[in-house]
Amino acid sequence: MLTVDNLVKDFISGFKRKKTTVLRGVTFSVSTGDIFGFIGPNGSGKTTTFKCVLGFIPITSGKIQIFNRPNDDVELKKKIGYLPENPYFYDYLTGEELLRYMGQLHGIDSKTLSIRIDDLLEKVKMSHARGVQLRKYSKGMLQRVGLAQALINDPEFLILDEPMSGLDPIGQREIRELILELKSKGKTILLSSHILTDVESLCDRVGVIFNGRIVKVGELKELFSEIHTDYEMVIRNIDQSRLSDFTNLGVSFEKRAGFQVIRFDEDLKSKVVDLLHKYQIEMISLTPLRKSLEGLFEEQTKKEAILET
Ligand code: ADP
Repeated sequence: MLTVDNLVKDFISGFKRKKTTVLRGVTFSVSTGDIFGFIGPNGSGKTTTFKCVLGFIPITSGKIQIFNRPNDDVELKKKIGYLPENPYFYDYLTGEELLRYMGQLHGIDSKTLSIRIDDLLEKVKMSHARGVQLRKYSKGMLQRVGLAQALINDPEFLILDEPMSGLDPIGQREIRELILELKSKGKTILLSSHILTDVESLCDRVGVIFNGRIVKVGELKELFSEIHTDYEMVIRNIDQSRLSDFTNLGVSFEKRAGFQVIRFDEDLKSKVVDLLHKYQIEMISLTPLRKSLEGLFEEQTKKEAILET
């Protein structure tokens, strides 16, 4: 569906024509029917990649193909829907007028358009505000109507830049469900986020971008296998004399709300379980502690710093 091959983007700015390299050889692909999550901290190059894919800005080098065609093919636009990160729409239009305007740009006939507008407003739970001007919308409402406009041409391929941003937890869940519904209808979706939990229940594959480079691409479970490293176990009634058996392994120990909590990494898991059996210690819970994406990015920053010195 989409292939991005060694994409480089330099911005030239200012009187001295200073060159800033924002994308440094981005390569990834999205298969038909998949939800691909593009994750990375703010400023890592997600929006710039999307703008390049959509042909909004010229690329410095590399190759982008959508449906096996060069991405600047105008015909492709009919098949693509786009939700920008900060949707700046015409403030004085109502939600309904915006959708009508976008639909007309796509050349949709007025009868089909009216049906589609009703349907989409219903889907994004914005029917009640269809007659309200966009300048009176909250960020969450703009996000919802933004998603509706991205769907107005019934696109096969959707590019959603931070679709969950600005939404409360209920709104996020609704958008997540809507995205899954679109997938069930065979749509292909490329979405971005700087928050891992946004993508974890959604994406088939993810690409992690950091400082203009893809540092990881793969299934989410592969990524998690790398960042699921520490465990926290709540136990009860451990005898002080046996505690040293645990701490000698390298397990950390603390008391929390009347419980004993031990923390250890993947390598120690089986040894800890052996000790629990040996001393018949009661386990209350075991929680994998996901090292956050930020942790992954910090590691990457350190690696890059080493490479540059
Ligand atoms: P993200 O979407 O991951 O937050 P962006 O793609 O918006 O990141 O930005 C990546 C980097 O490119 C940032 O450092 C940003 O300042 C820079 N950038 C974006 N647009 C321009 C531009 N038109 N000129 C110069 N630098 C830009």
